Amino acid sequence: MAKIDGAKLMAQSLKSQGVDYMFGIVGFPVQQIAAEAQKAGIKYIGMRNEQSASYAAHAVGYLTGRPGACLTVSGPGVVHMLAGLANAQQNCWPMIGIGGASPTYQNGMGGFQEERQVQIAAPFCKFAHAVEHTHRIPFYVEMAVRQSIYGRPGATYLDMPDDIIKGEVDTDKIHMPPKCAEPPRMAAMADDIAKALAALQSAEKPLVVVGKGMAWSRAEDEVRAFIERTKLPFLASPMGKGVLDDNHPLSVGAARSLALKEADVIFVMGARLNWIMHYGQEPRFKKGVRIIQLDISPEAIGQNVPTEVALVGDGKAIVGQLNDALRSQQWFYAEGTPWRKAIAEAAAKNAKQIQPMIDDNSAPTNYYRALKDIAAWSPENAVIIGEGANTMDIGRTQLPNKSPRLRLDAGTYGTMGIGMGFAIAAAVVHPDRPIISVSGDSAIGFSGMEIETACRYNLPVKIVVLNNGGIGSGTEKYPEDPFNNPPRALIYGARYDKMMESFGGKGWFIDDPKDLRGALDAAMAHKGPALVNVKLHPNAGRKPQEFGWLTT
Ligand code: ADP
Ligand code: MG
Repeated sequence: MAKIDGAKLMAQSLKSQGVDYMFGIVGFPVQQIAAEAQKAGIKYIGMRNEQSASYAAHAVGYLTGRPGACLTVSGPGVVHMLAGLANAQQNCWPMIGIGGASPTYQNGMGGFQEERQVQIAAPFCKFAHAVEHTHRIPFYVEMAVRQSIYGRPGATYLDMPDDIIKGEVDTDKIHMPPKCAEPPRMAAMADDIAKALAALQSAEKPLVVVGKGMAWSRAEDEVRAFIERTKLPFLASPMGKGVLDDNHPLSVGAARSLALKEADVIFVMGARLNWIMHYGQEPRFKKGVRIIQLDISPEAIGQNVPTEVALVGDGKAIVGQLNDALRSQQWFYAEGTPWRKAIAEAAAKNAKQIQPMIDDNSAPTNYYRALKDIAAWSPENAVIIGEGANTMDIGRTQLPNKSPRLRLDAGTYGTMGIGMGFAIAAAVVHPDRPIISVSGDSAIGFSGMEIETACRYNLPVKIVVLNNGGIGSGTEKYPEDPFNNPPRALIYGARYDKMMESFGGKGWFIDDPKDLRGALDAAMAHKGPALVNVKLHPNAGRKPQEFGWLTT
């Protein structure tokens, strides 16, 4: 009778469920799973820390629509992976974590790296389970994949004890479930579609907020048709950027604060009124603002602000319904209203305020001047990753996205250190696209050793470090005793470019902005990984803000 072991069965189950990428670090007891994954045709990427592996796995999930897998050793490996499970869950992006575990027959004995893995993973997951029999591996893999992409997407976890991995079963006893289908698209009630349109038509100052749920649901064609048909002003969330072109004439991105503060009816689609959207509350929003909310998760409706019209279901399906309903109507939001004028004026005022910083050629440079060159250099089809407090926030406003799912950043959980994992994930799923990661010097430090991973696989990631020598801002004075340094201080002018060179990539160090564009072009022309390390003035900052966070 033919036999199959747990490692092979796990690899074949993943492949049959459309899991094509696995990021991990091998060791006891999972080496064989990685080896079998390669044999099964899964692309295995060996990383340097499980955190980055788990970040990469859910970036793959968001970019491809099928979860990426993260494979870790037992105990500490699983603990490191929690960072990615949590980030995936908060971002509503799918991934499947696979943790090796000490053998079941040593449970409770103080086994090597024994840990209560399912319990610690569970709070960060939609579904977490230990596989208790080798022959049930295909069942649990299908379950984990399905739960990760159906409904609100998120993280799942499977615990794989050593004896289950090594266990052998007769092949004729195995049931391989069919590949779990793409998530079904749920539509809204016809009544609610009519109510949503009526609410928008009754608005004096309407606004549409487009979130990353719309990018996930691949609703870009429907959303573009809806916006262009209704001529409603829209605001993209940080990773909703690109569902519509950031430079679309109806985008209010450059007048974000005013648009949120004064809108009287806001249609929130695939976004949450959480901290990123200032909870939908005063003073950032108008008191009594009327909310139309589209979300796949019914539990999300009404969070922080009561919802007037709830459209529960899939973004692509529901915006399609709205477009169908609009076919029998003449209405669109009028041209030349005072609301449109106020938005245009605020955008012009903001642009004027930052222009001097963009034009400032002094050395060392500032964020806006550096980002001017980075924006002009970034190809339209590039995946752009942003992390680091100022680097990400200012980058969000200065680096436009034209197409969906081309921006990845610290996201809902505000996780710094995602940059290298996301860049590696983007490079493996999009070998045809330029991958640009713009990191602060603090942010690159969290996962800097993954530069070795990028070099080992010769992934053509282009990393730009905006280097001000600190967490947030840098410092101009370093006291003699380093223990008196401000807690935010890092080495000013640290040579991250040389880290890249030490592993075989190319690096540039820029201390005068006049040299930046040339270095960026050379980095892009280089076939492998490259890092452009840009020294910023330690006090470089943002334009003056009325509110401290996500403004413009
Ligand atoms: P952003 O950070 O862009 O504001 P959030 O992550 O806060 O976005 O919100 C995204 C929302 O999209 C979540 O509430 C999630 O439930 C929802 N969502 C996920 N998938 C879909 C889908 N297929 N259709 C509609 N909404 C979705
Ligand atoms: Mg910094």
